[in-house]
Amino acid sequence: MTMHESRRDLGFARGRRPERFALQASGKISDAACPGCGAVAAHGRWSWGRATAGMAVVVCPACVRIRERAAAHVLELTGDLGRCWNEVKGIIANVERAEVEDHPLERVMPFEVRDDRVFVPTTGLHVARRIAAAIVRRWRHGVQLRFTDPCTRIEWLPAGSRRG
Ligand SMILES: [Zn+2]
Repeated sequence: MTMHESRRDLGFARGRRPERFALQASGKISDAACPGCGAVAAHGRWSWGRATAGMAVVVCPACVRIRERAAAHVLELTGDLGRCWNEVKGIIANVERAEVEDHPLERVMPFEVRDDRVFVPTTGLHVARRIAAAIVRRWRHGVQLRFTDPCTRIEWLPAGSRRG
């Protein structure tokens, strides 16, 4: 497992919304490049592009969230998860890879383990929802999902009590 253990309070679930773009002195939004991940913002949208001369250097919202441990959303994985953990990790990695390709701001932050559960913070709601959807597709009645803001709880039911 590559999770890092933490007993600290889960301060990342604050749902903060970092500044999206730098403003020029004129008040107009400028094109920008993130020194952390290389994403570039043009016309108000972050993508994987090539930084060009004259772009403002702005840490993108995803890198800000990761640095400040301020997740946009958190998946809370709990219940009878042990047997499927490797598969779950694979699903998370695959969904993130596909998502980040088109949406640089939709990333998965480092997992945290606390007692009997794993917290998977993300920098965007969309990637969290897609991971939850992929898990439900895979385990169907074997999991119970409860969506709240800013946390989605996914519980793996004990093998014996699974419906359907
Ligand atoms: Zn960045």
